[in-house]
Amino acid sequence: MAGEPQADCLFCKIIAGEVPATLVRETETTVAFRDINPQAPTHVLVIPRVHHHDAAALAAADPKIAADVLREAGEVAAAEKLDSYRIVFNTGSGAGQTVFHAHAHVLGGRGLQWPPG
Ligand code: C5P
Repeated sequence: MAGEPQADCLFCKIIAGEVPATLVRETETTVAFRDINPQAPTHVLVIPRVHHHDAAALAAADPKIAADVLREAGEVAAAEKLDSYRIVFNTGSGAGQTVFHAHAHVLGGRGLQWPPG
């Protein structure tokens, strides 16, 4: 059922402590941890504790928690002392989504090009 932990979801396993991750922040509704394959000096993922396939599905099902993810992305950027940063929601495999549990990438600490690849 949407929102419930999924047995085959890597990020649900990180939330449950079954897969290790370097946590940077936790709230009642979100978890933030360092990306295992960083693409910038700061690369942190912010995920909701509830399982939804992608950010749009999360926002449709629970806009308050979607807002929590965005606020936490900003809190991560502030904690990492980033003046400029990018929040990315890869959505769909063609856009690079590989883990189908909604997540925000927070990227910063270097110059970021536009448009992204
Ligand atoms: O947007 P996408 O779905 O590709 O993002 C998933 C991210 O999860 C990747 O950047 C990947 O490096 C990261 N990851 C991680 N820890 C894992 C497995 C994947 O940080 N154990």
